[in-house]
Amino acid sequence: MTDKHSEQRFSGSDIQDLQFEIQQFTAARDWKQFHDPKNLAMAIAVEVGELMEHFRWSSTDQSRGILQDPATREAVEHELADVMILLLEFATETGIDVPAAIRRKLAINEARYPVDKARGSALKYDRLV
Ligand SMILES: [Mg+2]
Repeated sequence: MTDKHSEQRFSGSDIQDLQFEIQQFTAARDWKQFHDPKNLAMAIAVEVGELMEHFRWSSTDQSRGILQDPATREAVEHELADVMILLLEFATETGIDVPAAIRRKLAINEARYPVDKARGSALKYDRLV
């Protein structure tokens, strides 16, 4: 594990606490019946679309400026939360350990994108030379 990985802001227990809070919210409304992996994956895509909608047709600079407006920033924050809530629900439903999955994928990405080849490049790993 490299130093940068130990600088995480959220611990595994923070994520588990959030998953528990989300489960409580869902259970109180009897919504778990709707939350199978397929429906959750689709709901994630819908919420990502709602996040993206705030930036539709904007340039790179405009996309940064959009977040300077407090009301829009709050709306974007709400969409980010919707996406993350559903991602955590998906993890709960499927039994995926989020911190472990992220660390495994970071290790894969470390191998795919060696710093000496990937630094400053937007190329996909299979096109790096
Ligand atoms: Mg939403």
